[in-house]
Amino acid sequence: MRNPISGPMESRPTVDIDLDSLCANYRMLAKAAEGAETAAVVKCDAYGLGAAVVARELAKREGCRTFFVAYASDGAELREALEYAAPSATIYVLNGPDADTLNIFTEHVLTPVLNTLEQARLCAERCARAPAALHIDTGMNRLGAPLTELSAISALGLKLDLVMSHLACSSEPAHPMNERQRRAFEEAAARFPGVRRSLSASAGALLGAQYRYDMIRPGAALYGVSPFDRPDPRIVPVATLTAPVVQLRDAKAGECVGYGATWSAKRPCRLATVALGYGDGFPRSADGSAFVGGAPCPIAGRVSMDLVVLDVTDAPQPVAIGERAEFFGPHIAIEDTAAACGTIGYELLTRLGRRLKRRYLRDGRIAAEG
Ligand SMILES: *Cc1c(COP(=O)(O)O)cnc(C)c1O
Repeated sequence: MRNPISGPMESRPTVDIDLDSLCANYRMLAKAAEGAETAAVVKCDAYGLGAAVVARELAKREGCRTFFVAYASDGAELREALEYAAPSATIYVLNGPDADTLNIFTEHVLTPVLNTLEQARLCAERCARAPAALHIDTGMNRLGAPLTELSAISALGLKLDLVMSHLACSSEPAHPMNERQRRAFEEAAARFPGVRRSLSASAGALLGAQYRYDMIRPGAALYGVSPFDRPDPRIVPVATLTAPVVQLRDAKAGECVGYGATWSAKRPCRLATVALGYGDGFPRSADGSAFVGGAPCPIAGRVSMDLVVLDVTDAPQPVAIGERAEFFGPHIAIEDTAAACGTIGYELLTRLGRRLKRRYLRDGRIAAEG
């Protein structure tokens, strides 16, 4: 992946989204799951990276034809975004329908994922001829129909095109829950013969052939986030978060930094104030480092709304005003920054705020800005 840090740009925090890396991750997953279809989960605006651009890129370049969103209204927007790139794409809506949203499904040709007997009945009454997916709960106790409801659901005679379930512990490959859920899924899915099956998101897709069935549903791994909460060499970074240095100063030993004066210099040091804060979705709890001046430099003090201070004393190259510090990307793994914020890459990405500039890169060049 090329480093998009240099070049003129407005002094604003920016997320650069490398579309070539997005496609490389898609191909890696598709190859790992050969024989199964590779769908793309683009819920939550493709984890904050922009569902329309991401879905179009995967449709045009990789032939992706199946997408998952959480809400019907997101599905409607996605349908419009895919009007030319993939007009016949299947768009599954994970949260399923209710009486108020059913018309959105019909109007935009969205496929509901049915999670309860109630949703299944609604569908049987109002849209029995349209295809639907069934989410079966195999032990996560989050979304999906319990095993006890399956007889009643199968009796409704719905036109199911997918039965799916979701793994609770796939980020820990050796966890016994994975195999327990897989067996439960196999048994439950057998009650819907001839219907395609899907069990795995990013982590499950990389667990082993027995977890892949007919379709995998990755999200995070497409976006360069390891589902195993630590960097994974198979997944290349996609998003790079940078922000400009807006002020530099020297501080004497004993001087403090930021709100609450929680950090104080243990030696004479050089500090760089960078234009990134919790107002941009960068957690106030952040600790850890940002890459600037040729090395990772530690965060000094509390992150405030618009600003964060870095201790650049040990940077091998002098740091200048306007230079950009990388908070995650090719030099600093998003999983490491997330861990230093007490969270995971998924949350860090999806929280990135509206104030951030988003730029899409192809061949290392800016293809679009948003
Ligand atoms: C979010 C989600 C996915 C994608 O999960 P990743 O870990 O990001 O790959 C797949 N399936 C369901 C049901 C989901 O909710």
